Amino acid sequence: MRKRIVAFRRLNQEQLTQLRQHYDVDFFEHHEDADSPAFHAALAKAHGLITAGLKVTPQLIDSAPHLETIASISVGYDNYPLATLNERNILLCNTPDVLTETTADTGFLLIMATARRAIELASWVKDGHWKSSIGPDLFGSDVHGKTLGMVGFGRIGAAIARRGSLGFGMQIRYTMASPKPELEKELGAQRLSLQELLATSDFVCVSVPLNADTEKLIDSAALKRMKPNGILINISRGKVIDEQALIEALNTGQIGAAGLDVFEQEPLPVESPLPYMPNVVALPHIGSATHETRAAMAQRAVDNMLLALAGSNPISPVNPEVLTRRASV
Ligand code: NAP
Repeated sequence: MRKRIVAFRRLNQEQLTQLRQHYDVDFFEHHEDADSPAFHAALAKAHGLITAGLKVTPQLIDSAPHLETIASISVGYDNYPLATLNERNILLCNTPDVLTETTADTGFLLIMATARRAIELASWVKDGHWKSSIGPDLFGSDVHGKTLGMVGFGRIGAAIARRGSLGFGMQIRYTMASPKPELEKELGAQRLSLQELLATSDFVCVSVPLNADTEKLIDSAALKRMKPNGILINISRGKVIDEQALIEALNTGQIGAAGLDVFEQEPLPVESPLPYMPNVVALPHIGSATHETRAAMAQRAVDNMLLALAGSNPISPVNPEVLTRRASV
């Protein structure tokens, strides 16, 4: 009997054909399909699940008794109940590396857009306010030569820091990461405590994963430690920042601006003030959202799934201990 895969969103025809050469595939293209009886019926028979943007709960896992492998089309895996997956010996794979540079581009876009007030001023032009040359009330601040503090200094953090150091002559600081002697040498990066980094950085850029240790890492106390004109960039997950505390810090001028790709709740609730604040650039979680990178991420998920269901090691397992356990029985 052929094994079955549930594919939830973001695969193209070529990728579906590739999977269907070996497996029966139930494809659900739309986000709302996750609530349909057909999706749940397919999951009950599935050995593999390829997904993007689906909150996978322990209950969902319980409803999939044959599940062996999940291939997430993302590098972050805060949407998955890792303890439950480990208990059930279900392998989880993600898509690191293929999205690093694109996400770093988005991070730097937020740095530039907030510092130079690009979105605010483009709207100002569109609204017909440009009647004479602008004055200091609409000036931005420099990016080149400033201090860039990276909270998290992994793949994406390092790629943002490279843009800052090599392209803009920025001084790089980092925290919430193990020592990185090679990056210190390459970029002159300095490792500091979170407190020191917040107090000394012109830009604080968050690129840690969301987990129990990082949830609300940037809270009211952390925001108070930032420079008065400091700019906060979040390219990781919304819940790493206490959003209410951030709104207050922006409203009271405690910090200068924020560039946000991610939010506590997504899509952003209509009542959120963030998109309407002049010192905020709010993007709809577009970190990796280019045609090229989303296709590469989906392909990585397909490759991971094909390797894992065939009993080989996938390219990027999140919980490789499952493979070790499987090998020992
Ligand atoms: P990564 O290479 O694993 O880097 C994560 C960094 O965070 C590492 O430097 C790590 O320290 C550090 N870290 C600090 N506290 C940690 C903790 N409690 N647990 C784990 N790591 C901790 O990951 P990445 O590829 O750069 O991706 C980072 C995050 O960005 C993802 O998890 C995802 O949530 C987010 N992301 C967002 C988008 C978007 O569309 N906005 C796109 C892609 C990714 P060490 O160096 O010591 O390991």
